[in-house]
Amino acid sequence: MQDKLTLMIPGPTPVPETVLKAMGRHPIGHRSADFQAIVKRTTEQLRWLHQTESTVLAMAGSGTSAMEAGIINVLSKGDTVLCGDNGKFGERWVKVAQAYGLQVQVIKAEWGQPLDPEAFRTALEADTGKAIKAVILTHSETSTGVINDLQTIAAHVKAHGTALTIADCVTSLGACNVPMDAWGLDVVGSGSQKGYMMPPGLGFVAMSDRAWEAYGRSDLPKFYLDLGKYRKSAAQDSNPFTPPVNLYFALEAALEMMQAEGLDNIFARHERHRRATQAAMKAMGLPLYASEGHGSPAITAVAPNGIDAESLRKEVKNRFDILLAGGQDHLKGKVFRIGHLGFVADRDVLTAVAAIEATLQALGLDSGSTGAGVAAAAVELAR
Ligand SMILES: *Cc1c(COP(=O)(O)O)cnc(C)c1O
Repeated sequence: MQDKLTLMIPGPTPVPETVLKAMGRHPIGHRSADFQAIVKRTTEQLRWLHQTESTVLAMAGSGTSAMEAGIINVLSKGDTVLCGDNGKFGERWVKVAQAYGLQVQVIKAEWGQPLDPEAFRTALEADTGKAIKAVILTHSETSTGVINDLQTIAAHVKAHGTALTIADCVTSLGACNVPMDAWGLDVVGSGSQKGYMMPPGLGFVAMSDRAWEAYGRSDLPKFYLDLGKYRKSAAQDSNPFTPPVNLYFALEAALEMMQAEGLDNIFARHERHRRATQAAMKAMGLPLYASEGHGSPAITAVAPNGIDAESLRKEVKNRFDILLAGGQDHLKGKVFRIGHLGFVADRDVLTAVAAIEATLQALGLDSGSTGAGVAAAAVELAR
């Protein structure tokens, strides 16, 4: 049905009407006092979201640009980095590091499993020569629906003394607690189309004082992604290049909505949706892909035994105008993923569960207990 599409993918995520309306204005001059006021305000709001004293820099680009910027601004030619890889995004940061000629050591975990913090501790403790300059990892691994123990791994990095923690927080920021300063994160990357309740187009990167010291030594090539330029401009409530002005209108409105809800309420809502979605899938006899106890608050990956996940996903879209995400790479057809990130209400979760249940019924694939999924979700939502 026209205009009925509901996004339940892990980005782009749904955008509130207030945010859409904020964007629907003529652009203003990006060197004007009016625009400077918006940069000033959003910079403060972004500090609040990241729970940091550091300046959070925004740039035109997707989450990958923010992460690439974070990596190339604190490292130098030939540096060794330790990358955590337990999914598509972990894999991507390995490729970025390799593209810049860094020496990459990889700590892997099977897709669906979390990274083992002990493996990081062991590798970092073994590095007595302090060759490792950074540990790069993904907090919420969107491809598998696994949340990694960023807090513990960052603590092991701190104990190493030299290495920086570079964290992909693209689907954890705005979904669960990511206190940048309290956890000692040095670089935090994110993107507007995820927890921010905004359209795609802005990438965000925040850097600690230690990361800025490393920036001073960094000799990797960079121009548009040179964060020093962004920091200098941000100090004057400005941007080095023409920013997506209308996305800044959206950012201000979205962060205002987030502040009105409050961080604790936002985190509790995502946690509730994680529990409700997981319980519903289990009640429908659909196994979860992420190992027990390691599910992301932003996304649930489901591996429906003996059911083609792609046809199920397409049917849900055709019948109910709800867009679910498919599996990536070798998981295509084996896994579908339900995004519950950003502007998602209890109602959306109930509806998605009901739509999946009704689709299984229509396809003759239900386990004979239609209604069990909605019932299980309702119980969790009522808690
Ligand atoms: C979406 C996403 C990104 C960024 O992807 P872009 O398409 O570049 O915005 C990075 N990491 C994770 C975990 C993501 O989910």
